[in-house]
Amino acid sequence: MAGLSLGNFEIHLIREGVYHWDGGALFGVVPKTLWSRKTPADELNRIPLAFNCYLIRTDEHQILIETGGGDKQDARARERMNLPPEPRPLPDIVAEAGFDPERIDVVLNSHLHWDHCGGNTILHGGIARPAFPRATYYASRGEWEHAHLRLSRDSISYIDANYDPLVDAGRMKLIGADTEVVPGIRMQVAPGHNRDMMVVTAESGGATFCFLSDLVPTAAHLHPTWVAAFDLYPLESIDNKLKWLTAAAAGGWHLGFAHDPQIDFTRIATEKNSFRLL
Ligand SMILES: [Zn+2]
Repeated sequence: MAGLSLGNFEIHLIREGVYHWDGGALFGVVPKTLWSRKTPADELNRIPLAFNCYLIRTDEHQILIETGGGDKQDARARERMNLPPEPRPLPDIVAEAGFDPERIDVVLNSHLHWDHCGGNTILHGGIARPAFPRATYYASRGEWEHAHLRLSRDSISYIDANYDPLVDAGRMKLIGADTEVVPGIRMQVAPGHNRDMMVVTAESGGATFCFLSDLVPTAAHLHPTWVAAFDLYPLESIDNKLKWLTAAAAGGWHLGFAHDPQIDFTRIATEKNSFRLL
């Protein structure tokens, strides 16, 4: 797939895989008669979702946003999601896409749900080792603390082997609300999906790319009120979607969605009280 040239940056989609999840969970209170027109469900009411990662090449860095679902779900969970029985290591997928995984020196996690950071580490005989040994990993400190609260509502989303070995080894930096990780590339909190989820922006040569993570998981979620049942703070999701998508439409930003199985990059325009793909 062709990448996106953005000033001095070059950005590529790396799709770690496609899984299937209950459509109702992805669209919350939206009636199935409406969402199924955009994303038809299978006989188990599941819809296809991608684990989308983005690789950014700058003059100095090779940065990976998200690391996909990884290798820590058991066979039953993999079957339930219609994933292949054996996980493929993300460095192999990166290499197949034409990039040297050894050169990835920065890894960004928008949040620490397993489907965003599962490929941070790879299990070797039960021990989780960094998938990208040269990289410094970045995630929100608030999100990492939240993960360890093990709340009944969302504890199932967290697998400590995806991040704790990196934190313990000093390989993962836990950051505050708005941080410019490398020049031009920022992580900014956009609450809604949870308290500390971050979107990632890359700016170069006057152009902007924005990885919206689970603020807008697929193009079908561009409608501000189409919010997943997973979201802990749906009203804030709506507010933040309006804020970020309005800026994206006005600024002509290039957007990347965390889970859309078809779109690599898109721009959007405002339309009535919503947004549409360009
Ligand atoms: Zn997600």
